[in-house]
Amino acid sequence: MIGKHRIKELMDLDKKHFLHPTSPIKQQQDQGPSFIFTEGKGIYLKDIEGNTVIDGMSSLWNVNIGHGNEELGKSAMEQMSKLAFSSCFATFSNEPAIRLAAKLAQVSPGDLSATFFTSGGSEANDTAYKLARHYWILRGQPNRKKIISRTKSYHGVAMGSTNATGLKPFRDFTNSFDPDFCYADHFSTEDLRRVIEAEGPETIAAFIAEPIQGAGGLHIAPEDYFKEVRRICDEYGLLFITDEVITGFGRTGKYFGMEHYHVAPDMMCFAKGVTSGYAQLGGVMLSEKIHQDFMELSTGTLLHGYTYSGHPMACAVALKNIELIEQEGLIENAEKMGIELLTGLKRIQGERRIVGKVKGLGLMAGLELLKDCQTKKTFENPVSPLIVAEAAKRGLICRSVVFDGQDVVVFAPPLIIKKEEIDKLIDIINESIAAVE
Ligand code: PLP
Repeated sequence: MIGKHRIKELMDLDKKHFLHPTSPIKQQQDQGPSFIFTEGKGIYLKDIEGNTVIDGMSSLWNVNIGHGNEELGKSAMEQMSKLAFSSCFATFSNEPAIRLAAKLAQVSPGDLSATFFTSGGSEANDTAYKLARHYWILRGQPNRKKIISRTKSYHGVAMGSTNATGLKPFRDFTNSFDPDFCYADHFSTEDLRRVIEAEGPETIAAFIAEPIQGAGGLHIAPEDYFKEVRRICDEYGLLFITDEVITGFGRTGKYFGMEHYHVAPDMMCFAKGVTSGYAQLGGVMLSEKIHQDFMELSTGTLLHGYTYSGHPMACAVALKNIELIEQEGLIENAEKMGIELLTGLKRIQGERRIVGKVKGLGLMAGLELLKDCQTKKTFENPVSPLIVAEAAKRGLICRSVVFDGQDVVVFAPPLIIKKEEIDKLIDIINESIAAVE
């Protein structure tokens, strides 16, 4: 048992020395961390005071396999002891990176066949935009520089991925306005066409989209949306990039989210679930054609690479993680448990008067809160943060989204979740809404 003085010491050191990512700065400064986690097992996290909570977000939509998986720990240790790091620059390579690239080619949609590795999703996105631009330079169309993304999208926090993010507060944070990035309505292919025409098709390198928008409020595109997107990209000659950073590796009940739409991209970004968060890894996959074009047209050096591109330990963990996801049938479980989660949330919708729309696919789900469900009137001050706080008190971590006037609570539990654990999650969220309405 950890003593009170040690907890206080950690709280004080955190407040004084630790600038938290994506955090409410003042609240953090005043109150310190709400949880200092020390252990994780399955869908649960335990904090320094001994409280156990359900990790209803798989932390950051990434701990797909659940916490405390010893086999993943073992794979990291074995690889670290053998070869912790060696470079993949130029002509150097290592076995885990080679095998992971080959495995990804086998399981990814369409003819995605070659991988460029990064350390996470933001780097993957910036890499995709840079490779798309370089591709057009090689193809003799250097004016194709612009990237079109969607409203309510989230693509990360590097400079390019911040600019591609359709949630304006993220761009405003650094006064980011780059005319090479433009935005189309997230559900409207007519709007995509309008933006392409307005910007000039000959200036556009690529269109990027998440199969299901996560951080932007859990938005599931209409059934035919991506087929039409693919047609439009082909018609105007743009590359179609999918951002599967959240939706990859089983999250939606398929290996990759775009499989729900039966559409193949030219490039695909991934991260998070590839290692279930046990190591920092992301990447961009290229279709066979784009990869071949790179090989044939390139005369110089590929001047883009991170020190940790193809990190042997991270790749070894990813290989083991993917093996376990397959062996343990976690993609199928995500599909089945996703239905249970949605059913439970719909039940809450019937019982609580402030729950508007309920949405979800696999183990990604969200509840929209409304002051008046008849008139669709929203609360003046969003209530989702209050519900999330109530849930935390009752032992459940979930997340609130309030961008663009939204008021949504989102969920993304680990793919190992069982029916009785879903029931527990649903009970807690129901009580938490009841406490607020
Ligand atoms: N793309 C999507 C769809 C994401 O949800 C995220 C992170 O949440 C990112 C990219 C950025 O990934 P990272 O935080 O690993 O840089």
